[in-house]
Amino acid sequence: MKKSERAEIILKELKKLYPSPPIPLDHTNAFTLLVAVVLSAQSTDKKVNELTKELYKVADTPEKMKELGISGIYEYIKQLGLSNQKSKNIYLLSKLIIEKFHGQVPNSFEELESLPGVGHKTASVVMSQVFNIPSFPVDTHIHRLSQRWGLTNGDNVKQTEKDLKNIFPISEWNTLHLQIIFYGREYCTARGCDGTKCLMCRTLYPKRKKKFICKKP
Ligand code: SF4
Repeated sequence: MKKSERAEIILKELKKLYPSPPIPLDHTNAFTLLVAVVLSAQSTDKKVNELTKELYKVADTPEKMKELGISGIYEYIKQLGLSNQKSKNIYLLSKLIIEKFHGQVPNSFEELESLPGVGHKTASVVMSQVFNIPSFPVDTHIHRLSQRWGLTNGDNVKQTEKDLKNIFPISEWNTLHLQIIFYGREYCTARGCDGTKCLMCRTLYPKRKKKFICKKP
């Protein structure tokens, strides 16, 4: 089966399973989504949502977050991994948004990626989920599933993003990245799999006999 045929099957199946996937990180505006994505590095969305519920009661704008200060932010997020660094980054990015972008979260990759703690994946999430600009944020789930479904060779996330953008129509990117994440969490977890247990892989690889191991689970 060709890669394009597999991509069509994947799109169809994911649409059936997740017709309108919600944005997993709770937020009320562009700024609170940006902060939530920065906080989610090496932490679960569930834990981030639990902590931001309280944090955003006192700081849901760059001005209020700056006012809270690094130690004030830390008090709300200290249960997360990398909390020291995250507190500092959130304080600094709030300050920069006020000073350089008139208090508004910028809507370009270049500007977003100039903010502390904001890499290409975080910027892609904000571009996609806040500004509705087609993007394909590749997180660990998407990287893993793309390999398991034969959409990329799995060398690195940059290559995976490029391969996914080439194979799927641009109109699908913003919803599809969420659908893949949901599928990864529900069915295709990081634990090993021989590539035959789900209907998805049995459909994509009807003749599969050997165990499939992806490069970076
Ligand atoms: S068979 Fe395994 S690799 Fe394929 S979709 Fe299911 S869990 Fe993922």
